[in-house]
Amino acid sequence: MSVTFQIVGEPDHCPIGFPDCIECWKRYINMSNSNAGEFIEAFGLGTELYGSLRAVEIERRIKKVLDSGYIDEGSPSQEENRIIYCGRRAGYCNEKAKQLLEMCERAGNLGVISWG
Ligand SMILES: [Zn+2]
Repeated sequence: MSVTFQIVGEPDHCPIGFPDCIECWKRYINMSNSNAGEFIEAFGLGTELYGSLRAVEIERRIKKVLDSGYIDEGSPSQEENRIIYCGRRAGYCNEKAKQLLEMCERAGNLGVISWG
């Protein structure tokens, strides 16, 4: 299971579309549920794996956390009852934050970004 961030109402003229088209991947940010949970909490975007906010608000919250010196230390992968929980390399959430800031930029002042 995964969580995808995208700009609400962004025109899609691609005949192939997400997730099959490589180009379309650039228009989305995808994370596993566990990583998305960490990310959403770390950047103060709520407590659920779904939601939506104005791009300017997301930008404000992310910059606030980054300005405070936040660095994702990552997490080791774990195996429990034969289920493997994927770990996360250090800095992962910082990279995703950078991508999300770029998405906010693209969404513009009136843009809304949703995830789920
Ligand atoms: Zn495409």
